[in-house]
Order: sequence, then structure tokens, then C-alpha cells
Amino acid sequence: MNQGDFLDVAKPLSKRFAERAAEVDRTARFPEENFAELKKAGFLGFTLAKEFGGQARSLPELIELLECIGEGDASTALSLGWHLGISMELRITRPWPDQILAEVCQEIVREHKLINRLGTEPSTGSPTRGGKPKTIAQKSGDYWLITGHKSYCSMSYALDLMLVTAVMEETGEVGEFLVRKESPGIRVKETWDVLGMRGTVSHDLLFEKTPAIFLRKMDYKKRQAASRGWLLHIPATYLGVAKAARHYAVKFAASYTPSSLREPIKNLPHIERMIGEMELKYFTARRVLFSVAEQWEQGSEEERIQLAPELAAAKSLVTNTASQIVDLAMRIVGGHSLYRNTPLERYYRDVRGGLHNPPMDDMAIRMMANRAFSTIQ
Ligand SMILES: Cc1cc2nc3c(=O)[nH]c(=O)nc-3n(C[C@H](O)[C@H](O)[C@H](O)COP(=O)(O)OP(=O)(O)OC[C@H]3O[C@@H](n4cnc5c(N)ncnc54)[C@H](O)[C@@H]3O)c2cc1C
Repeated sequence: MNQGDFLDVAKPLSKRFAERAAEVDRTARFPEENFAELKKAGFLGFTLAKEFGGQARSLPELIELLECIGEGDASTALSLGWHLGISMELRITRPWPDQILAEVCQEIVREHKLINRLGTEPSTGSPTRGGKPKTIAQKSGDYWLITGHKSYCSMSYALDLMLVTAVMEETGEVGEFLVRKESPGIRVKETWDVLGMRGTVSHDLLFEKTPAIFLRKMDYKKRQAASRGWLLHIPATYLGVAKAARHYAVKFAASYTPSSLREPIKNLPHIERMIGEMELKYFTARRVLFSVAEQWEQGSEEERIQLAPELAAAKSLVTNTASQIVDLAMRIVGGHSLYRNTPLERYYRDVRGGLHNPPMDDMAIRMMANRAFSTIQ
């Protein structure tokens, strides 16, 4: 894939993912065929460093890709987004010792392995709130043994590389550990019977004395790290869902002519108004998302840290607006939108997922309030 042409490859993939999306949602299974196609097209190395065989793509390119994939299937896009976000983090921050960093990156590119971070636990909730994990790590020779319970593990049984946070028994400090799929003592607890994003198979994972490699110490009290621009993969996914809903509703309005009318409903003032409102929302959300992503991409390390409120605001604005766009699309289409043979009811369920991905709205609003206070004096 050359620079810039990735959308030519991603668009037909997204169309095929859309054809499978209803069945993936109904059966709540991991979309393996989609990932086989993404792997074949080389997308697992999209944001990894070039020295490890990756493509080192930018943040705007990442969100463009995920909006496109999200238009076809939101679960595939969010799952891919976790993987590509972590890959970008590895490239930019190089957070682990060189040897293990190189090993993991090469496994991703050469062996097409999927990676994700498992931070949430039933008793601590979202790790972004600063709760200490209950998962324990015990030293055992060169290895550590992990025992604990993680929830909301996107890709669960499909994951090859798991980044697990755990408290080191001896010191009480929190560390990040690498667990490989083939390690003993891992059990999937099938809890992911949920409203939407069902294909992410975000089941619970239970670890019982599972061998793991120590990666680094973590400051668990530190709230949402300031400069994690790659987390914009989350709003990009839900913007893709909104785009798909908008497309469906506009097409419907342009072609549906009930017997009470002589022309399609698109010409009715209230329908035209809703289409205009939907377009305004889509336009605003997309512009904000790309403008913040571009600013982050161009910024120095310090400027990226200063952008924290904007990153949170963009996530909050885009995910909430995406939800409103799907709602408007359903109002335009009317009662037909409730049927399972239209994709709208699935978009309506999937788009809710964005509200419960980090950073949460209250954190974004608090950061914006602090930003406002910092402007006085
Ligand atoms: C589709 C999907 C995929 C996901 N994938 C992953 C994944 O791969 N890996 C992963 O680690 N996580 C994942 N998550 C989990 C996600 O990041 C959150 O941890 C999870 O949704 C719980 O968030 P919560 O805000 O409801 O947390 P909870 O802590 O359970 O919060 C419940 C309620 O209490 C409030 N609350 C709790 N504590 C505080 C506090 N200290 N201050 C203020 N308010 C508080 C919250 O605002 C919320 O209203 C996923 C979630 C979804 C929806």
C-alpha cells in the first residue's frame, strides 16, 4: 500500500463488512473473516514504526481509516482501533525495554497478531478513574504469575497479545504485563450479552497463575494521560456509524414515495429540515475531529500535552453527535427504521457504545471547565 491510497483498499473491505454486520451482531461472534481480510491487506501494521515493518501512518490517516471501517461494521472498527491505537503508542512513546518492544512489533507485522490492553475490572470500573486493580502479579523466576479478573476485554478469545495491569505483590506497585494467548491459566467468561457492539466480543477474561512478562511500572492514579491522541480512534469509529445512518436516511428520503404523495418525502419541509440538521451535525463533528487530530499530529510533545482538553472534547462531541445523527436518521425513515431488516436499529444500538469508552463525558466537561478557568487572571 502506498502513501494515500489506503482508502481505495479499505472502502471495498468496509462494504463487505457491512454485508456481514447483521449476522455478526445477531450471533455476537468475532468477525474473523473481516480480520482475515484486514490482515491480508496489511492493515495490522498501519501505525507501527517502519523499522519493524509497519507503515507509521499519521493520526488523521488512522481516523480516516476507522471512520471508513466503522461505516461498514462498528465492532470491527473499534477492535481494529484498539490494536492500531496501541501500535501507534508503541511507535511514539516506546514505553517498554527495546528487546520486548521489537519482539511484539515484529509479531504483529510478521505473524499478524492482535493486541489489546485489558484495564477494566468488575470491581474498579474504568481504569481512567484511577482505581487500583485487584489483579495480582507474583514473581516466579524470570516470569510473573498473574491472577485476576478483567472485564470488557474487546476481542477476548481472538486476542494474541494481552496487556494486563496488575499489582505487584511484593511492592504494591501497579505494573503492565504481557500475556500471550497460548499461556496456561486463561479462561474466557462469556459475559458480553449486550445491547450493541456485540461483535467486539468484549467478554471477561480470568487469569489463574498465568505466566506473564513484566513491561513497565504504571502510575494508576494518573488520570487519562494527556497526550494520547491515538484514542481518537474511538470517536472515528462512531462517526463512521453516523455516516452510514445518514447515508441510509438520505437515500430513503430520496426514493420513498407513499401513496399520499406525488413525490418522494425528501421534499417535505420537516424531512428537509431533519436532513439539514443531520448534515450540519455530521459536518461539525467531522471538522472538529480532523482539526484536533491534525493539530495533535503537527504538535511538539509539550503542545500535545496542552491539547488534552481538546482531545477529550472532540471525543465527547463526536460520540454524542453521532448518537444524535443516528436518532435523526431513524426519525426521517420512520417506523421502517425499527425493523431488523434495516441496519438503522443496529446503528442505534452500536452508537451507544461510544458513550462508555474513554474519556467519559463528565471528564471531558471538567477538563473544559478547567480550561475556561485557566483563561481568567
Ligand atoms: C464497546 C466497549 C468496548 C470496550 N473495550 C475495552 C477494552 O478492550 N479494554 C478495557 O480495558 N476496557 C474496555 N471497555 C471498558 C471501558 O473503557 C470502561 O471501562 C467501561 O465501559 C466502564 O466505564 P464506566 O464509566 O461505566 O465505569 P464505572 O467505573 O463502572 O462507572 C459507572 C458509573 O459511575 C460513575 N463513576 C465511577 N467512578 C467514578 C469516579 N471516580 N468519578 C466520577 N464518576 C465515577 C461513572 O461516570 C458511571 O456513570 C470497553 C467498553 C465498551 C462499551
